[in-house]
Amino acid sequence: MVHDTAGAVFDGFHEECGVVGVYGHPEAANLAYLALYSLQHRGQESAGITSSNGQTLLTHKGMGLVADIFDEKLIRRLKGPSAIGHNRYSTAGSTMLKNTQPLLAKYTLGSVAIAHNGNLVNAEELRVRLEAGGSIFQSTVDTEVILHLIAASQAGQPVDRIIDALSQVRGAYSLVFLSEDHMIAARDPYGFRPLVLGRIKHAGKTGYVVTSETCALDLIGAQYEREVQAGEIILFDAHGMTCYNPFPRAPSARCIFEHVYFARPDSTMFGQNVYHARKSFGRQLAREAPVEADVVIPVPDSGVPAALGYAEEARLPFEMGLIRNHYVGRTFIEPQSSIRHFGVKVKLNAQADILCGKRVIVVDDSIVRGTTCRKIVKMIRATGAREVHLRISAPPTIAPCFYGVDTPTRRELIASSHSVEEISRYVTADSLAYLSEEGMYAGLQVNGNGFCDACFTGRYPLALGSRPKGSQLSLFGEQG
Ligand code: AMP
Repeated sequence: MVHDTAGAVFDGFHEECGVVGVYGHPEAANLAYLALYSLQHRGQESAGITSSNGQTLLTHKGMGLVADIFDEKLIRRLKGPSAIGHNRYSTAGSTMLKNTQPLLAKYTLGSVAIAHNGNLVNAEELRVRLEAGGSIFQSTVDTEVILHLIAASQAGQPVDRIIDALSQVRGAYSLVFLSEDHMIAARDPYGFRPLVLGRIKHAGKTGYVVTSETCALDLIGAQYEREVQAGEIILFDAHGMTCYNPFPRAPSARCIFEHVYFARPDSTMFGQNVYHARKSFGRQLAREAPVEADVVIPVPDSGVPAALGYAEEARLPFEMGLIRNHYVGRTFIEPQSSIRHFGVKVKLNAQADILCGKRVIVVDDSIVRGTTCRKIVKMIRATGAREVHLRISAPPTIAPCFYGVDTPTRRELIASSHSVEEISRYVTADSLAYLSEEGMYAGLQVNGNGFCDACFTGRYPLALGSRPKGSQLSLFGEQG
């Protein structure tokens, strides 16, 4: 039997991505490659880099992991002092080479390549309009709409065309564009997805880096400067850096799920260190949902910082009761004779030496469908653990994301239709508790204003132009 581990848990309709842009460095493509390498957690299905040698754009893209797609020779071919890169996780159905980014187009003002993290909510409408006007689409990704809008714009300068195009799209976008002689970064007015700006020195000159997370800046030795502001557009060219704020202000809607699960713990996200945020979620959870127990264990890797925080607050020993195999690929071959807990054991193994006879608190960041979680609880019990108490360091995931995090349909989200007690019974835990919404924001020491928490509350800051199948939206404050 062949299992598809990557597609087993998630097969929603939106993609997750990492982006990078490097301007003014002789090894731009190499730095973009390293940045993508450090952003691998944001997307594992495909990756690509486009560089500019001043005259032409050069691109290499492929399916799979960054390290498998590029080698030294390929990177050397991507010559030039500027480059943009993208990696992507998408659903099985839309995983095709033609959908990988950067996407490229030629138009009257030259060439433009684009890398996008986020999801446009009016892409369908725009596509219908553009196709009626004669545009021919090459891919099925929403990002391509932006290229067609740029080509159709009557504005004189590339940056004005981009502003024109972006004034027509709604939704989440952290973008980098590359042309022969300039690079442009843009973040949507709500600031859903992250985008940071850094500087990198080379031979006495300063180059620029924009990327999804600060962990990418760390790897390539770039100095973090600031976030690209929500609604800001930055042009990098021979004159340096020029900032534009062309759009009306919108209420800030930074993605809280970046802090809960998505970002790397060593990144600074929206001004706060992710590791510390997750530890505080764990501490808060211990205060809100204590239980008599002998040991606290995380579901690695996502649950580790929260479990540390929980254990510290509860004054209980922290142990790695589940060990993760870091080399699990996309597929594996199961023997004919069935093995107990095989599917989950390939990735995680429960240590009987640590857990047998104990009352165990297991900490993870979220329950999506509940299927993995149920297997983990059963596997822990099979070690001889006396009790298994599940603690989740975020509120119940009740609603799908339409702004760039891959979640299944509402129907498939167990917490959208089941109570905490019902979920506890389903996953066969002795008890289950989630962090409260207030507790989550208390952990971040903010009041929750300025964040998008639609996945936990069902309150969407921006309405959808067209609804993905199976979704039932409850909307508030359609601003647009
Ligand atoms: P399940 O128990 O099957 O609902 O799976 C829950 C696990 O999925 C948790 O360990 C989460 O860390 C993980 N998870 C949550 N959101 C996502 C996501 N968007 N992509 C991949 N994994 C996720």
